[in-house]
Amino acid sequence: MRFLDKIRTGFSRFMSGRYGADQLSMAMLWTALILSLISSFGGVPLLTLLADALLIVMFYRMLSKDRYRRQHENQTYLQKTDKVRRAVTEWANRVKNGKKYRYFTCPQCKMRLRVPRGVGNITITCKGCGTRFDKKA
Ligand SMILES: [Zn+2]
Repeated sequence: MRFLDKIRTGFSRFMSGRYGADQLSMAMLWTALILSLISSFGGVPLLTLLADALLIVMFYRMLSKDRYRRQHENQTYLQKTDKVRRAVTEWANRVKNGKKYRYFTCPQCKMRLRVPRGVGNITITCKGCGTRFDKKA
């Protein structure tokens, strides 16, 4: 245990003042993994190069001491990908809760609404605009 503690202390000393991982780093890591997976099946050497470049930039960002600039990059990334990330989250929730709920879109304001499955014919009142419409759930 002593040895592991030493490693842990040494690592946290090394990482102190450094930026560490954020959402952008994780996105880079996943993209690199997917790219290298694709290239290992398809044999596209350019993708491997791109994946390696992403990993290098990711480690550079994680070990960087310029916190302000890294936070700004992450903020920009989060803003630019907001719609996509929301769509992915919503899709994942639908897959996860698909057996429990049915999903409808409000005809008036296009807000996505969720109702329990198996309640039969119901009148749904939109939470966003108050529009009422009938559906079978
Ligand atoms: Zn509505």
